[in-house]
Amino acid sequence: MKSLSVTLLTAMPLLFLLLVSASAQTNPARAATASTPPEEKVVKVTRNSAPPPQMREAENFTGSVGVELLQEATAPSRLASGRVTFAPGARTAWHSHPLGQTLIVTAGAGWVQHEGGEKQEMRVGDVVWTPPGVKHWHGATVTDRLTHIALTEQQSDGKRVEWMEKVSDAQYKAPAKVQAVPAPVRRSTTNNRPSARAMGDFAPKLAEITDDVLYADVWERPQISRRDRSLVTVAALIAMNRPDQLRSHLTRARANGVTKEEVVETITHLAFYAGWPNAVSALAVAREVFQQQ
Ligand code: MN
Repeated sequence: MKSLSVTLLTAMPLLFLLLVSASAQTNPARAATASTPPEEKVVKVTRNSAPPPQMREAENFTGSVGVELLQEATAPSRLASGRVTFAPGARTAWHSHPLGQTLIVTAGAGWVQHEGGEKQEMRVGDVVWTPPGVKHWHGATVTDRLTHIALTEQQSDGKRVEWMEKVSDAQYKAPAKVQAVPAPVRRSTTNNRPSARAMGDFAPKLAEITDDVLYADVWERPQISRRDRSLVTVAALIAMNRPDQLRSHLTRARANGVTKEEVVETITHLAFYAGWPNAVSALAVAREVFQQQ
């Protein structure tokens, strides 16, 4: 009798501990309000530190590329994202994605092609979906840099790409599909076009010819790449000391793949041809444009 009560007494604290730990496990509300939330329950902002990516030769690519991993897949999500910058002439090898891939072009211009299909152009803002298992490649054009964000779901074993042979020069330089620019996009969104926004309410005819002749026709001509067209335009505006027009054209130049270093070098170069005051005025505008995210 005595030994039984001793056993019960020593067993009590253990029983108490078991009950407490069981209740902590079965009462998530109590755990959640206890202290700071666990890391996986808060929104995480990764700042755009954005030095230009290191451009280098890489396995499974031709030419010079800068690959930046933005976000690894974090379970239960299977989505990984990365940003890839291709120098003019650079491209991936042929490859496929077991769960498909979405590309969003953020700067410059490029080409994408699936096996047996025509090479297609892609430009800033274009969204490209490649279905699971489809053999394809993507990269810059011969004359333009390209930056795209790639959104790729991975299998449970972590695999998200199947690499194959390199894209030959003949394949890469084959003519691109001629793309009819859909008329409604150009015509019906009148108020959304660059000059319509800037001056359409005040000088509608000037806005119309600027958008229809300058931007929709001259700027679209393939004889000079968009990047080079931007450089030529920016150089002229610096030489004429036109900071207002330079501001919008530097923004456009940036979108067309002209880097900050190239703009600063252009301004330094032009100080000798267009004059020091023009260069200094341009520098202030360039600083403003490239400080914007
Ligand atoms: Mn791909």
